[in-house]
Amino acid sequence: MTTATTSVSLTGTDLHLSFGTNKVLRGVDIHVDAGKTTSVIGPSGSGKSTLLRVLNRLHEPEQGDILLDGRSVLDDNPDALRQRIGMVFQHFNLFPHRTVLDNIALGPRKLRGLSKDQARAVALEQLELVGLAEKAQSRPGNLSGGQQQRVAIARALAMKPEIMFFDEATSALDPELVKGVLALMTDLASGGMSMVVVTHEMGFARSVSDTVLFMDRGVVVETGKPEALFEDPQTERLQAFLSQVL
Ligand code: ADP
Ligand code: MG
Repeated sequence: MTTATTSVSLTGTDLHLSFGTNKVLRGVDIHVDAGKTTSVIGPSGSGKSTLLRVLNRLHEPEQGDILLDGRSVLDDNPDALRQRIGMVFQHFNLFPHRTVLDNIALGPRKLRGLSKDQARAVALEQLELVGLAEKAQSRPGNLSGGQQQRVAIARALAMKPEIMFFDEATSALDPELVKGVLALMTDLASGGMSMVVVTHEMGFARSVSDTVLFMDRGVVVETGKPEALFEDPQTERLQAFLSQVL
């Protein structure tokens, strides 16, 4: 798969964020090498989604820095930053009354300034890459949840992101549909896309990630190569978490 234009490295250092008195991120460090995948695992409420939203500045960090390709992005226009980052969520939020192709073409047309024909060509190319070209003229509601999520991934890729964020992209899917989405994410990773993947899919985290980060209560409790984290967890908290999810 040759979707990655130029993938960049991402570094977050000492990131802090509170909601009122709730300190949700308490000094988080994260790093993704260019073309590599970092998975973020941890219990519900530990701050994983908030971390992604801080990294694309939907929430401004109260402290810390965010670097793409080694350069701080905190002084950049947040919209410009968000165009460099593709986001895929649990709920795909496709426009139900538009065709699959139009759903994907909308971003390139509106935000990348492509002509209608150019945007549709880009959309079709991405749709082919996710294996759904024959659904171009369908409405999202006529697709399975797994197919809709692959369309959402195509929509993100059509913006030519330099890095992709996934937030529990398979959590809302019926079990039999999870595999196809994970296979696509695996293809993207091996095609050299930089990715941050928040996931409960421990098989994916273990087999596809270059680095795994275990978060609990707003801090990174352990980080390292997947083999090390899964086979030899150093903390009681990670041991307890793994014994619940594996
Ligand atoms: P996770 O994704 O690991 O389940 P979240 O990042 O969603 O965790 O949430 C971490 C904490 O931040 C939770 O206590 C949650 O209630 C709180 N939180 C998340 N988003 C908001 C928000 N927009 N306003 C207030 N509190 C929030
Ligand atoms: Mg979350």
